[in-house]
Amino acid sequence: MVKNLFIFFFITINSLSSQDIPIEWLTKAEKSNFKETSRYEETIDYCIKLSKNSPFVRYTTFGKSGENRDLPLLIVSKDKFFDSKKARQTSKAIILIQNGIHAGEIEGKDASLMLLRDIVIAKKYPNMLDSLILLIIPIYNVDGHERFGKYNRINQNGPEEMGWRTNATNLNLNRDYMKADAPETKAFLKLFDSWLPDFFIDIHTTNGADYQYSLTYSIESQENVALPIRKWINEKFLYNVLDNLNQKGYPAAPYIWLKDNKDPSKGMYGGVSPPRLSNTYIPLQNRPALLIETHMLKDYKTRVSAVYQFLLSIFENINSNLSSLKLSVKLADEFTMNSLENPFPLRFETLSEPDTFFFLGYKSVVEKSEISGAEWVRWTDEPLNLNIPWYNRIKATSSISPPFAYIIPKQWQSAIEILKYHGIMVETLKEPIEAQVEYYKLTNPKWQERPYEGRHPVSYNTEKYSSFKKYPVGTYIIRLNQRTNRIIINLLEPEAPDALVAWGYFNSIFEQKEYAEDYVLEKLARDMLANDEKLKKEFYDKLSNDSTFASNPRARLNFFYQRSPYWDNQLNIYPIVRAVNEIKATTEIVK
Ligand SMILES: [Zn+2]
Repeated sequence: MVKNLFIFFFITINSLSSQDIPIEWLTKAEKSNFKETSRYEETIDYCIKLSKNSPFVRYTTFGKSGENRDLPLLIVSKDKFFDSKKARQTSKAIILIQNGIHAGEIEGKDASLMLLRDIVIAKKYPNMLDSLILLIIPIYNVDGHERFGKYNRINQNGPEEMGWRTNATNLNLNRDYMKADAPETKAFLKLFDSWLPDFFIDIHTTNGADYQYSLTYSIESQENVALPIRKWINEKFLYNVLDNLNQKGYPAAPYIWLKDNKDPSKGMYGGVSPPRLSNTYIPLQNRPALLIETHMLKDYKTRVSAVYQFLLSIFENINSNLSSLKLSVKLADEFTMNSLENPFPLRFETLSEPDTFFFLGYKSVVEKSEISGAEWVRWTDEPLNLNIPWYNRIKATSSISPPFAYIIPKQWQSAIEILKYHGIMVETLKEPIEAQVEYYKLTNPKWQERPYEGRHPVSYNTEKYSSFKKYPVGTYIIRLNQRTNRIIINLLEPEAPDALVAWGYFNSIFEQKEYAEDYVLEKLARDMLANDEKLKKEFYDKLSNDSTFASNPRARLNFFYQRSPYWDNQLNIYPIVRAVNEIKATTEIVK
């Protein structure tokens, strides 16, 4: 069976032959027999040529990179709906294909351009655009793409030269979807908010163990995703597309994250990723998002062909499931706006009860290494097909009850700017209010020592309190009646894995800014002990029961400072609060 599969595989690749394509329409990858991939300028030239030669294609840009390159975009529409407002009013499905976020992993660019040429120039698939509007980002991380070289991807089998993983400031754009530090991310979020695509595809090359699959994928469809989207993926999309790919000779596996990289028989993990990644962020915007990962050890032609076929299968599927996709996206938005899950899950863990996955691997030999002193694995090309445990069931480990709104004091401008990039409606108070609110104290803050994505993330414990507070004119209100509710909660609830506060947007709240002299505290402490029997007992109990405290003179003095009226009662208080009731005051929408 495996043998037959490989014969079929061979035929499929040959059926992608470019013989019937006029030479002037061959991509650089095709002309070089997939030894090379086009540079940025050559890619833009090819995109412009497509737009000049097809009435269905428009070339445009959606922003600038850090090094001031244009971020390229192809809009493809048979009905010439090149404007986002018009496109969103039609019944067509808008599909956004993002290539080269990790610019060395670039087969998506070559596959997308070949497929688009085959649709609009060679006219190989005459009905493919009937129900679709395509948005193709040929290269997203353009600056990384032009850090071009032979030695950028040590594990990867071609092309001969390629781009680099990060952008020009060494940020991984695929960890930036929530905190949005990079200009590329800000441009992407604006593009996304303007078009609100119905389906999103992000194309990569994976690292990891060796196995038979050219293609692996991930599509979030568990409790972190709105139910209508989950249902559509499971009932209409995923298994049909996988069957179709299998028939074409491209069996695809879920993203392979082995428990033990030397031994697939121990099983693989699934689970839920944090929303800093594209394929978890987009589902929080109520849209299905497919991550495609080709396998680094397959040659470039095989990888480009595999992506080409995957895209073709997706387009075919969405053409036949157009109305159900459009309906599920609409229902997911309505559900999110009006009846969000309560409790709403923020964090998940993967359970220890596995399902079974039939894995197409290779036999391996584990040897002792004289170099590392440890064991190392050598993969053979002999197939080894086996059932392995697949740990993909999840459980929420942290949840909140959604408030009516979040209230943000007006001085926290940098957070407001980020909310706007995410397409979140922000209002300001036109009259002062008094409101019953819940607020958090974030105690025991600890910063990650080494930077991660240009920041030092902070962890803390959360304590929740209630209070009645006054807010002046100009205070920001973020209501939870929006299609972006899932993003709002994930940005503003401090326990969420990618909360702005965890990324360091509110670090100054953790800084003590007034200090007491020891000789002042000595006097204060003596007065407090003399006048408060309860406090006296608390202090002496702590001295006898807590040796760390007893041996720290500063902590002993601070014991009194913290219990005095001089202590800063705003220290460690998270400034964004949860409104318990509806806010009825007059407000203005912030543009
Ligand atoms: Zn990648």
